[in-house]
Amino acid sequence: MIPTFNLYDVVEMKKEHPCVNRTRLFQIVRMGADIKIMCLGCGNIIMMPREDFVRKVKKIVNKNEINSKFLVKQ
Ligand SMILES: [Zn+2]
Repeated sequence: MIPTFNLYDVVEMKKEHPCVNRTRLFQIVRMGADIKIMCLGCGNIIMMPREDFVRKVKKIVNKNEINSKFLVKQ
């Protein structure tokens, strides 16, 4: 099952970011054909194709309802 992701959702990835904080939590900062996620441990932004993101994500930690409404209008 592929969950629906929205801008600014906080997601948990299957692999931790190899930075000093080694967190698995990222926030979606850009949605498109490519998705940009920001590591909540170090603030680095990683870009990957949407299909890679869907494969690597584990779950949504915090669903952002306000932004999902905003995206519907676009
Ligand atoms: Zn990091």
